[in-house]
Amino acid sequence: MNYTSIFEKIFKELEKTPATGKVADYIPELAKVDPEKFGVHLTTIDDQHASFGDSNEKFSIQSIAKVLSLTLAYKWEDEKLWHRVGVEPSGTPFNSLLQLEHEKGIPRNPMINSGALVVCDILTSHMENPKEEFLHFVRKVSGNASLQYSSTIAESEKTMSYINTALINLMKYFNNINNDIDEVMDFYFNLCSIEMTCKELAHTFLYLANYGVNPYSKERIITASKTKRINAIMQLCGFYDQAGDFSFKIGLPGKSGVGGGIVAVHPGKYALSVWSPRLNTNGNSNLGMKFLERFTTETEYSIF
Ligand code: GLU
Repeated sequence: MNYTSIFEKIFKELEKTPATGKVADYIPELAKVDPEKFGVHLTTIDDQHASFGDSNEKFSIQSIAKVLSLTLAYKWEDEKLWHRVGVEPSGTPFNSLLQLEHEKGIPRNPMINSGALVVCDILTSHMENPKEEFLHFVRKVSGNASLQYSSTIAESEKTMSYINTALINLMKYFNNINNDIDEVMDFYFNLCSIEMTCKELAHTFLYLANYGVNPYSKERIITASKTKRINAIMQLCGFYDQAGDFSFKIGLPGKSGVGGGIVAVHPGKYALSVWSPRLNTNGNSNLGMKFLERFTTETEYSIF
């Protein structure tokens, strides 16, 4: 299949409709990103690659990094992890406080902010230098030693961290945060600030398309059984209150971030990433969603 010409064809079709949505501006640094950027990259587990547009430009992966922190925490904690965070879709926005009080500080899932903060707390308990050691893990998963945090973006998010502060305080009250709040938040903001290109993002997520093994380095990142469960969580929870719509229209497990990135995984086949910074009202990339819907329809490659 000639993926690049499919990308071009879909992009030309979508270009005809006016661009809608706006870049995330609650993190001041993200508000500076050019809304017209568009990139896509597909990598198959048997080493085929296809790119289009701004696929080699770095962007902030934001919540997409929550899948990587979940992977490490699940690897270390096994099924005990689920005593501290659930696996149910939330049906609420990414930073919602609503269910947390009702559910006594146990977040619905690890893809919403509260769940990711608990995962960061768990990782903080395991590591002496959480930021350094986590970056080392991400570099290993991606096979890319040059990946970095963006301290500019992490610091920018800290200036507006009121809701995340409320979430973590509520969970501390319910004894679901064991470490110092500032330390856990600093780790969380840094993990969200990791920058990747579409190409790097697709490569990084290939282990989830390949039953837990990076197909290039042949290194096992996580077991096949845990890979199945991480993909299931992405399928059910990766798009917040739009997770049903994403499953319905695209039919792949995936994860979005407010930087405008989306990564989708086809187990046994490929990882596909797309970047377009204008977000819809659910905080997911508007054009990215449309593009992926057209891609899985055109190629008939979805898991359903
Ligand atoms: N760092 C962002 C926040 O905590 C992540 C949100 C997202 O990408 O969905 O608000």
